[in-house]
Amino acid sequence: MDFLQETGILTRQSGVSTGTKWQAGEGADIASHSPVDGKLIATVTGASAAEYEYLVKTAEAAFRKWREVPAPRRGEIVRQIGDALREKKQALGRLVSYEMGKSLQEGLGEVQEMIDICEFAVGLSRQLYGLTMHSERPQHRMYEQWHPLGIVGIISAFNFPVAVWSWNAALAWVCGDVCIWKPSEKTPLSAVACQRIVAEVFERNDVPEGVSCLLSGGREAGMWMSADGRVPLVSATGSSRMGQSVAATVAGRFGRSLLELGGNNAVIISKDADLDMALIGTVFGAAGTAGQRCTTTRRLIVHKDVYERFREKLVKAYGQLRIGNPLDEQYHVGPLIDKAAVETYLQAITACREQGGRFIVEGGVLEGAGFESGCYVKPCIAEVRPDFPIVQTETFAPILYIMPFSTIDEAIEIQNNVPQGLSSAIMTLNLREAEQFLSCAGSDCGIANVNIGTSGAEIGGAFGGEKETGGGRESGSDAWKAYMRRQTSTINYGKKLPLAQGIKFDI
Ligand code: NAD
Repeated sequence: MDFLQETGILTRQSGVSTGTKWQAGEGADIASHSPVDGKLIATVTGASAAEYEYLVKTAEAAFRKWREVPAPRRGEIVRQIGDALREKKQALGRLVSYEMGKSLQEGLGEVQEMIDICEFAVGLSRQLYGLTMHSERPQHRMYEQWHPLGIVGIISAFNFPVAVWSWNAALAWVCGDVCIWKPSEKTPLSAVACQRIVAEVFERNDVPEGVSCLLSGGREAGMWMSADGRVPLVSATGSSRMGQSVAATVAGRFGRSLLELGGNNAVIISKDADLDMALIGTVFGAAGTAGQRCTTTRRLIVHKDVYERFREKLVKAYGQLRIGNPLDEQYHVGPLIDKAAVETYLQAITACREQGGRFIVEGGVLEGAGFESGCYVKPCIAEVRPDFPIVQTETFAPILYIMPFSTIDEAIEIQNNVPQGLSSAIMTLNLREAEQFLSCAGSDCGIANVNIGTSGAEIGGAFGGEKETGGGRESGSDAWKAYMRRQTSTINYGKKLPLAQGIKFDI
């Protein structure tokens, strides 16, 4: 496996680093097994509490220097990271695919997203704009400016082992912040590979140790950052349960959190939909990445007039899905991340049946040659009612729930009536329906699409969702503002000192 050598992965290595320097990794070992074939890829040593302390101290010292580097210069260095990623795209994409189990196309796509966000960040480094306002007082000028925040703690999930980190880190760096990354313990090697790529670029540019820190470990390491007053922003991607814990801890110390949590995404299929287009969007959205995207399509709300017809098409399409090694491009669907995820999938199927669901495409675990890891499962579809508890829950697996509707009002009501609020879509050629779906009385999600599915997003837009999805926004648009602190300044260039609101205070 050349990609392991090319990304510098050793059989055993430290996962604790301030840049070019690697600590011993005195915490627990993290073994990374590939869900593709079940083999142990390599072991990473996690951080001890003392090593965490060292990372924070080094990051604090680095911040004092990094914040003084002009933003466009920081942008130029991030541009070089983009170039370095381009050079390593094939190897890193393969590593992501092998460690996480997503298709090679998606592994490469993830690295491409990293390159894209670096490019976005370069432009942004010259556009960290503040506003100027007209003061109510004569001979006064008022304006706002954006300053770097400090240490940004990044906690990431297994399903996007590298892209989500880069969305945060590339913006944080051009904003003048330094980062400590706590990657998922299920994908520690992809993080080690990224840290090496960045460290090389930083070293070439005399960037101090501590601007990019890697903190490998389990949830405890994430909890250290959440509780640490020296980390002004914790950006956490993962389950809503994790987000609830992080949010409470960070709020308890008046820190900021940026939360990107679970989704329960629906596609509404109107009677005026182009059903062929709807089919492609739905099948990719529901079965792609083995249902392990935060934006995976989990619910299909289909108009009663086209319900039978669409259901038939769907069942036929599912019959054509090829499940197998994600590094082999002939397969559509790879494995789940681990056996615990398989167990959760099976429990959800049982719960769905118990609650009255009827499977029109059966699930199950695949066995035999090629499926030795025990992580390959069949994408399945169940007919349900929208209020089943299991339908209200995000199960991170390829289980699609399908239900009929009669009016567009009812469809929007069903779509919104779940605790999560990440991604949503309507398939329709009817302008009125599309606009109603996008209106303030329409979808309540952070992402609302028309005639494309729920999954897959471009870095140019702000990404995130409402309700139990956490409310955070990352990536494009003005998401950068979360990584900076706003300061409003009023300057008096006159010879008098008038008070605001005309208050008199004569002495
Ligand atoms: P997870 O919540 O199990 O773990 C995510 C990360 O949080 C890991 O690094 C883990 O070590 C850490 N963690 C867990 N508990 C913690 C705690 N109490 N304090 C601090 N850190 C803690 O999630 P996962 O299984 O890796 O990922 C799947 C989940 O992530 C799904 O719910 C998915 O929807 C969500 N996700 C959301 C987005 C988004 O942008 N909204 C993107 C990707 C994944």
